Amino acid sequence: MFEALSERFESAWKSLRGQNKISAANVQEALREVRRALLEADANLQVVKDFVAEVSEKAQGAEVVSGVSPDQQFIKIVYDELVSVMGETNVPLKQVVPGPTVVLMAGLQGTGKTTATAKLALHLRKQERTALLVATDVYRPAAIDQLITLGKQIDVPVFDLGTDANPVEIALQGLEQARADGVDTVIIDTAGRLQIDQAMMGELAQIKDAVQPHEVLLVVDAMTGQEAANLTQTFHEQIGITGAILTKMDGDSRGGAALSVRQISGQPIKFIGVGEKVEALQPFYPERMASRILG
Ligand code: GDP
Repeated sequence: MFEALSERFESAWKSLRGQNKISAANVQEALREVRRALLEADANLQVVKDFVAEVSEKAQGAEVVSGVSPDQQFIKIVYDELVSVMGETNVPLKQVVPGPTVVLMAGLQGTGKTTATAKLALHLRKQERTALLVATDVYRPAAIDQLITLGKQIDVPVFDLGTDANPVEIALQGLEQARADGVDTVIIDTAGRLQIDQAMMGELAQIKDAVQPHEVLLVVDAMTGQEAANLTQTFHEQIGITGAILTKMDGDSRGGAALSVRQISGQPIKFIGVGEKVEALQPFYPERMASRILG
């Protein structure tokens, strides 16, 4: 992996080669390259600035370890810092005992929220855990139908009360149903809009207050690039998230959104979506994402 990075940053490294110390002067060009790479990967500008400042501080004056070239050492500092910012290790979905564990899904329409709800249920089923999906998007009958169809496909029950009921009521009754059935995880799919609006936020906050979820997962489309940062900030400030799922990582996104989401909310990305199929969900690993971002 470091070989690929070396090639990519070839010109920048020239300034570091042959030095026995990484100094302020010779690290500047390399830092510019890192900044460019992160922006190309669609990380948020402020997030990138903070990151580069941190790397700059760590790199300058770092004694060059014998047997390691300064450029290799610099790459390692950048890589380690990326992994560190993204949380070092995978953070699994919470599980409370006795259950049910309550998971609230949040996000804009079209990001893959409903698909991720089903993907998560399948992921749990593979671990011999049981789930109940709850459909609260009463504004789009198609969204309820979609969840029911997905539920059938993965053989996981779906609770809904049609489109005339109140979303908070649906969530509460769904939770009751899960308790009665002894299901260990309830995943509540919520309404998304094309853009953030106060009605959506208000409703989400009410559902959250009512069901007191153990997890609030923000579903973020990795292809939205810079927008991911604003979205995370707003949802985290107004609702409070406990983690995120980064979808559409099978596309050509380099995943800078992962850095933004983590840096802005301080909460871990728990999974990535890597396709339209229900099986296409993977745990999030900071090391893999760091390689991809620097790619
Ligand atoms: P929602 O409006 O947020 O509930 O979004 P949906 O779950 O309906 O997904 C919107 C579209 O994105 C659908 O066509 C999904 O098949 C697609 N989609 C969801 N997740 C992924 C993913 O990880 N990769 C790809 N390529 N497509 C996805």
